[in-house]
Amino acid sequence: MARPSTPKTASTDMAGKRALAPGLYVVATPIGNLDDLSPRARQVLGSADRVLAEDTRVARRLLQSFGATTYLDIYNDHNGAKVRPGLIAALQGGAALALTSDAGTPLMSDPGYKLVDAARQAGVAVHAVPGPSAVVTALSVAGLPSDRFLFAGFLPPKSAARRTVLQELGAVQATLVFYETANRLQAVLADMSLVLGPRQAAVARELTKMFEEVRRGTLPELVSHYQEAGQPKGEIVLVIGPPDRRDLADDVDLDALLRDQLSRLRTRDAVDAVVAETGLPRRDVYRRALALGSDKGGSDKGGT
Ligand code: SAM
Repeated sequence: MARPSTPKTASTDMAGKRALAPGLYVVATPIGNLDDLSPRARQVLGSADRVLAEDTRVARRLLQSFGATTYLDIYNDHNGAKVRPGLIAALQGGAALALTSDAGTPLMSDPGYKLVDAARQAGVAVHAVPGPSAVVTALSVAGLPSDRFLFAGFLPPKSAARRTVLQELGAVQATLVFYETANRLQAVLADMSLVLGPRQAAVARELTKMFEEVRRGTLPELVSHYQEAGQPKGEIVLVIGPPDRRDLADDVDLDALLRDQLSRLRTRDAVDAVVAETGLPRRDVYRRALALGSDKGGSDKGGT
């Protein structure tokens, strides 16, 4: 019996050439190792009427690696709004278009969401051609809980905005996954350590490439490591383990955490950090922070 996916995406035309059923094909491509391009991705990229690429030079190299000469068009954040209507018209006319990004799965911190949305709204078939993505690849080798995760893409480049986002995400009971650049890694880890506390984390670098490395440790340990080792090279995914849920009745722990944060931060920021670390309700942590402030007769350094 034929596998169910075969007739849906491919058929053989009169000349014996593989022809694709019409529609938009969202095609994942390797994140480093060219051998990770699936046979089905090759077939779709080789037989589509057009391949849509962020950068045609990158896509050309990929097509050349298996001898395909498919016509290439640019589709990216700069020209998307302009070219989308024409692409949708071509799809409605029966074209088979393959959407790619420079590496990995389109739409994962890459262009494509608006095109897929427009195709669906136009009633055009959208086919998945799944494959590599750095987020899943990193999770698969980090050794951190993978049953529940939140992929948050890239954090803001500025520290203040980054800390705000981290505070928002801190109480989420899930592993957090971020894309990051090597030149920001040290600053980002320092902010994470400050806001999220000593959680387990992994720096997954150059996945599927020659210098693939996964470094595990608590956030403060990773901060120290990169302070000594210096800025690493290459592409990076950060995987941060979920918060440790602590018992609210355990005021000794809560007090110790609060005292530690209050010795360095304003009350509001200390409370945010402890909420992020423990997942406890902000109201309770704030009340306790105020009580600690009055215990020692000190003033509220920040307030809310
Ligand atoms: N759409 C792609 C995907 O599905 O993985 C991601 C594109 S995003 C613009 C690029 C980011 O993905 C990089 O900055 C890095 O954080 C991550 N990344 C891509 N390839 C990687 C690799 N081989 N190792 C580690 N991280 C990688």
